[in-house]
Amino acid sequence: MFREKCGVRLKILVLNSGSSSLKYQLIDSQTEEVLSKGLAERIGIVGGGGHINHESVCGSKDLDVEMADHEEAMEHVFELLTNSECGAIESVGEISAVGHRVVHGGEKFVQPTLVDEAALTEIEKLSQLAPLHNPANVKGIRACIHKMPNVPQVAIFDTAYHATIPDYAYMYALPYKYYTDYGVRRYGFHGTSHKYVIRQAQKMLKAAGVDTDSSRVISCHLGNGASMAAVVGGRVVDTSMGMTPAEGLVMGTRTGDLDPAILVFLAKELHAIPNEIDDIINKQSGLLGVSGVSSDMRDVEQAADEGNRRAGLALDLFCYRIRKYIGAYSAAMGGLDAVIFTGGIGENSSSVRARVCKGLGFLGIAIDKEKNKTLKGPADISDAAASVRVYLVPTNEERMIARETVELLAKD
Ligand code: ADP
Repeated sequence: MFREKCGVRLKILVLNSGSSSLKYQLIDSQTEEVLSKGLAERIGIVGGGGHINHESVCGSKDLDVEMADHEEAMEHVFELLTNSECGAIESVGEISAVGHRVVHGGEKFVQPTLVDEAALTEIEKLSQLAPLHNPANVKGIRACIHKMPNVPQVAIFDTAYHATIPDYAYMYALPYKYYTDYGVRRYGFHGTSHKYVIRQAQKMLKAAGVDTDSSRVISCHLGNGASMAAVVGGRVVDTSMGMTPAEGLVMGTRTGDLDPAILVFLAKELHAIPNEIDDIINKQSGLLGVSGVSSDMRDVEQAADEGNRRAGLALDLFCYRIRKYIGAYSAAMGGLDAVIFTGGIGENSSSVRARVCKGLGFLGIAIDKEKNKTLKGPADISDAAASVRVYLVPTNEERMIARETVELLAKD
């Protein structure tokens, strides 16, 4: 059925459901134009305050509305999508498929997956590994199945792109039974973003005459959450986030890499329970914890410019960690052809990019100061004479989810 439709323009609804929020985009699969998008917030929150911001070609519309659960939120989203004033479609029947972002696919889901009841049960089981995310993702899927039972629902997993990482890179040196009993291993996240920018970089490398089957690329996704991936010939060989998104780079509020015994030390000193330690690692640390100013890079950069020492230190820590990973991943891949910067910080902060690349000339990395300051992505910001390309590539996870949804359904 789907194959017949593939010649025509498909409208794909992309959904990213959080515990109390729901982000959506309606995308034309052929032109990749965003026909409509929005964000529903404060779903199921006692005390209300529910709000939806909806955008379409007709402008922006704000709606204050109580939403008891994701199903009620979806009702309002469908009403807005089909609304005669601000809608992009006349009826829900115009939506060809829904692509859902699902955070954790574990070892089970390594490809985009057409969701049925059995898959939903498996995704729910994986909540043990992603207790904040997978249950919310399932709520969004269920709400769509209920409203549009005959429309294909496709799950795209944040972890899936990292499924090619070899065991010596994904295992932790803990007793092996924790891997077999509980699935304790590196999974990696931001897979959809890394995949999108890698594909884009491969096109640019090809145009530059590099063999993309063996190209060695490091992707730096630097947003509130931040992670890096080492990718050979389009296949991930290592990534900085681990079993959870807390490992690796310094982030807005997360520590990244840490001596594990510090947690034992703090638990004893603070008489802290696991949830309190979790809060320290994930919500009180990173740029916020070190600077004491903010988790937002713009605020940290500004404070550092004004002479705030701890903000300067947070910035140094942030950039140094990335530099260290670039060195480690170059060694892991036996060389380097390109580095990609993406995410809110990677795309917008020329000073972070300059700090990260400083002193990496021995690897063949040198950026062109002017290009780094002025160009918007996708762009090559490296010095023309450098042997490694440095690319600025705006990420677009929703577009990638729409593409993968169409690619999967076209196979059926
Ligand atoms: P998320 O992980 O929530 O999707 P984003 O990718 O939107 O986050 O990135 C948010 C981060 O990007 C914030 O730290 C923000 O300060 C930073 N950022 C956005 N614009 C700039 C800018 N012009 N300069 C420096 N940092 C920026």
